[in-house]
Amino acid sequence: MNTAHAIASDVRAGTRRATDVLEDFLGRIEAHDGDVHAFNTVTADQARAAAASIDAAVDGGRDPGPLAGVPVAFKDNLCTRGVATTCSSRMLEGWQPPYDATVVQAMTAAGAVMIGKTNLDEFAMGSSTEHSAFGPTRNPYDFARVPGGSSGGSAAAVAAGFAPLALGSDTGGSIRQPASLCGIVGIKPTYGRVSRYGLVAFASSFDQIGPFATDVADAALALGVISGHDPADSTSIPAAVPDFEAALGRGVEGLRVGVVSELTGSGRNRAANGGPVQGDTALGNAALEDAAGEVLDGIDADVTERVLEAAGALADAGAIVGRVSVPAVTYGLTAYYLIAPAEASSNLARYDGTRYGLRIEGADVEEMNRLTRRAGFGDEVKARIMLGTFALSAGYYDAYYGKAQRVRMLTRRDFDAAYADYDVLLSPTSPCVAFRFGERADPMTMYRCDTCTIPSNLSGDPAMSVPFGTGAEGLPVGVQIMAPALGEEAMLTVAAAIERAAPELAAPRFAESSTGGAA
Ligand code: GLN
Repeated sequence: MNTAHAIASDVRAGTRRATDVLEDFLGRIEAHDGDVHAFNTVTADQARAAAASIDAAVDGGRDPGPLAGVPVAFKDNLCTRGVATTCSSRMLEGWQPPYDATVVQAMTAAGAVMIGKTNLDEFAMGSSTEHSAFGPTRNPYDFARVPGGSSGGSAAAVAAGFAPLALGSDTGGSIRQPASLCGIVGIKPTYGRVSRYGLVAFASSFDQIGPFATDVADAALALGVISGHDPADSTSIPAAVPDFEAALGRGVEGLRVGVVSELTGSGRNRAANGGPVQGDTALGNAALEDAAGEVLDGIDADVTERVLEAAGALADAGAIVGRVSVPAVTYGLTAYYLIAPAEASSNLARYDGTRYGLRIEGADVEEMNRLTRRAGFGDEVKARIMLGTFALSAGYYDAYYGKAQRVRMLTRRDFDAAYADYDVLLSPTSPCVAFRFGERADPMTMYRCDTCTIPSNLSGDPAMSVPFGTGAEGLPVGVQIMAPALGEEAMLTVAAAIERAAPELAAPRFAESSTGGAA
């Protein structure tokens, strides 16, 4: 078994060497990352030294911690001391941070071994990893398809068996959506639950760091390690960290689960797609008729069906399942694509050739700034900076930025109303399964990937994606579980129940053959 739990328990018990575990994973990266391109940097030498010191600790009778010897991959927008941190941008090429992000420190203090830095859409702006300046990452299930984004490298690394755990960042869905497309688990914690000190800022009122893992238990373990108050991040919540793993076995009897109508289609849609599905019985006809509100289009029927099946499985396990309308989610995309670029335009002002990475010399400082930014940023990043600057400019501020903030308020209010009746909410994570490269080249089409994930970023609430069966072409589907602020425990209880009911997902073919596993 190559789960983080299994590795750490073997290494702590002295029955497996951290160095052997590491070589096993490095071997798979060596064999297959040429095809996948999950990594921008593989930190093999540093990892070998770290693994050796874990083994030395075990030999010396010391406990290296709950992640003893577990290889972990970090998204390349997390600062790692002395190791290139590029954000997959030409702008930061060659820059080496002088310090580790708090989450990097926390993972290594728990015994984890950094194995490398993973590819992303430039500065985390995108949903496919196609916007990386260093070329896209491929989905381990089908090399012709995207792994999702922006943390596509982290998701692909875990799905491909290059690391049992990875960290990513989620501003509008960048952990959950690639987790969904790669058939793994991804968590966006409550805003403030995990320190962002050392995360390169994109849109600061949304950015959160969270884990990727192959199962819910590993994701909960990693979440526990990285959670907690950090005085170095002023948005970090001074709340105690619950025992997340204890939530996994609790069972869903009596838990109230609301399927979000706007994001999960209607009975009408499903009839058009070939009649009732398994979930119908469990949800009950009365609940289906309650489906009020506008149903967003563009969410594929194969995905919706899996979500309703997962809801049905929860009902079978004793949960109280109904449909709930959260009307403001229909405006989420529009609000996010004004607020996030506005914040990005401010955050990215620092890349001007003076302090970080790239500098293109000019006749004077202004020309140096201009030439550096022109050469250093890719088209999507430039588009966001311009959009954000426009939305914030005098004369447009109220009409765009101000209005978007009011939508954010409405979203908060609508979620509060829904959570008065339900403990957790369900929806698809992504409106579709993994798509082909170039298929969503038009920015508006790409932005629509984030329809279901953005609402929880607007509200700051936790949300996660758990695999549940397959959709078109046998590709993985993810179910999104949302919970109110600091409600990670109920979210994980439901995630564990969905995982128990989920059909077994075949591993990517090459991962199977190289590990000798048979799925
Ligand atoms: N796809 C969204 C965007 O492009 C979300 C990105 C993210 O969560 N980092 O902004």
